Amino acid sequence: MEKKCLACNKKFTGRVDKLYCSDYCKSDYHYQKNKGKTPTFYRRIDNQLRLNHRLLKHFNKSGKSTIRAQKLIDAGFNPRIFTHYWKTKGGNVYLFCYEYGFWKTTENGKDKYVLVEWQPNYMKLDGI
Ligand SMILES: [Zn+2]
Repeated sequence: MEKKCLACNKKFTGRVDKLYCSDYCKSDYHYQKNKGKTPTFYRRIDNQLRLNHRLLKHFNKSGKSTIRAQKLIDAGFNPRIFTHYWKTKGGNVYLFCYEYGFWKTTENGKDKYVLVEWQPNYMKLDGI
């Protein structure tokens, strides 16, 4: 079936549901369409969540480490964006971005984050 590419107007043949002549045109079309638009709330949360996850992973190579809170914040970390929490028997609440978690503590008057990893052996989430 002969069709016209939505992005470049070139004629091409393809399946009925194909709208673009190439993957390039497809992504270009979406890029042009979204350019200049304010990202949606979903997109902004999602971006921050992915950045948080990357930073927690980056600063927690040993499985458990402590870092100055400001250092993480300066790198772009936003502690209000997370996926879920885990409350320990001792009452601490760990906040997680997927498998990497953190909780805030104070050491010698300085704010720190203790970085932890999700422990699937004893951390259980209903249905997950
Ligand atoms: Zn095209």
